[in-house]
Amino acid sequence: MSLPIVAIIGRPNVGKSTIVNRLAGVQEAIVFDEPGITRDRTYQRAFWNDRDFLVVDTGGLVFDDDTEFLPLIREQAMAALAESSAAIFVVDGQIGPLPADEEIATWLRQQSVPVLLAVNKCESIEQGVMQAAEFWELGLGEPYAVSGIHGNGTGELLDQLITYLPLTTDAPEVEPISVAIVGRPNVGKSSLLNAFVGENRAIVSPISGTTRDAIDMLVEHNGQPYRLIDTAGIRKKKNVEYGAEFFGINRAFKAIRRADVVLLVIDALDGVTEQDQKLAGRIADDGRACIIVVNKWDAIEKDSYTIYDHEKLLQDRLHFTEWAEMIFVSAKTGQRVEKILDMVKIAAEQHKRRVSTSVINEVIEDGVRWHSPPTTRQGRQGKIYYGTQVSSRPPTIALFVNDPNLINDNYRRYIERQFRQSLGFTGTPIRLLWRGKKVRDMERSSANRATKV
Ligand code: GDP
Ligand code: GDP
Repeated sequence: MSLPIVAIIGRPNVGKSTIVNRLAGVQEAIVFDEPGITRDRTYQRAFWNDRDFLVVDTGGLVFDDDTEFLPLIREQAMAALAESSAAIFVVDGQIGPLPADEEIATWLRQQSVPVLLAVNKCESIEQGVMQAAEFWELGLGEPYAVSGIHGNGTGELLDQLITYLPLTTDAPEVEPISVAIVGRPNVGKSSLLNAFVGENRAIVSPISGTTRDAIDMLVEHNGQPYRLIDTAGIRKKKNVEYGAEFFGINRAFKAIRRADVVLLVIDALDGVTEQDQKLAGRIADDGRACIIVVNKWDAIEKDSYTIYDHEKLLQDRLHFTEWAEMIFVSAKTGQRVEKILDMVKIAAEQHKRRVSTSVINEVIEDGVRWHSPPTTRQGRQGKIYYGTQVSSRPPTIALFVNDPNLINDNYRRYIERQFRQSLGFTGTPIRLLWRGKKVRDMERSSANRATKV
């Protein structure tokens, strides 16, 4: 599953993203105007001959600090380099070597990763040779004259590159679990995302569509890949100043719809707000698995209150997702963060779980034996004939009864509790469909009619 990684490094505007997109065969470049700012690590799949690898654009590497983002960008580049099998250092052939290139070269020479020097913007072959020659002085070996835009020279570069990549053995692919991280602004979503990506190996960022708007990131944790949905949305705040009231709820709703499991992040200091309830309601309505992540646990004064007290308080206000597990974490200190993805895995398994008809009917029979369906004043009593699971994600069980009107809400909740008590379904909503006999008779008779015609 893990492919070798190639880091693309260089000053802003030398053509790194153009080269990444060429290697990855993406036509539409994701090019941002602000140097460096929006560049988090994004991985794209690429191949040359029969070799697959990932390219990661490290963002513009700058060594003189004049914006607050620079340390972050440099950190990203270093982290990217640390996991890479090779690096391509991109420079601008039309401008020639600059002091900033020398600084990067000096830094790269101290790293243990093999470096290829790509002298970009060399559209003209004859001129390119001259332009490239100027970069011998960086002390990184042969400069390759290339053009990210036209593609010339990249073949030789890639021929050389793949000699540095380790051969990978193809392990069976495990289906990634899609995870949405949602919550109000400032609850710590992006801090959590960083913790996930920092702790686990980020593999790839498949780009759905060609805009920077929907970037997912794949991270691997204990052998299981997780697709973190819309990481651009989670991090967006870093680039754009929103008004205080901006919530981005539609974006959260979209992410929820694409998720198997939703992490609903709550600020431990604020408790459950109306907006949190709105999100919880949507998660339940959409039938997604959910984990309530109570963040900033480090900032809570630990007095006589226990986690259990907090949990009860929060749970009371989150009745839409009462089936969801809750975990108290600190993205800041890292406390318990590594447990979250393991919980996600359990919830995802329950979400797609299938239970046999015989087991379901055992639960129903048992439940009815303890507590039979209510009888109306007129003496009519509800009867459950049998049940069967009709779909998963979330588990959906059809219950065939004499008349759904005779099964009141209390009794429906009771039966749902029976299913949960006997079968678990930790972290996932379950759905019960109460089907009346009348409807079934009608279906049957119309089916009969259809076969007669
Ligand atoms: P990055 O900041 O290093 O990722 O650079 P970009 O890929 O965003 O490119 C910066 C600018 O250089 C853009 O205006 C590109 O169109 C231009 N550019 C990239 N590659 C080439 C190339 O091979 N030749 C020329 N002439 N321009 C290029
Ligand atoms: P987002 O808007 O939900 O993405 O939230 P951020 O991740 O940007 O975090 C918002 C603020 O909360 C930042 O100032 C973080 O430093 C802070 N923060 C995030 N996680 C924690 C935490 O676990 N504990 C504390 N004390 N602060 C945190």
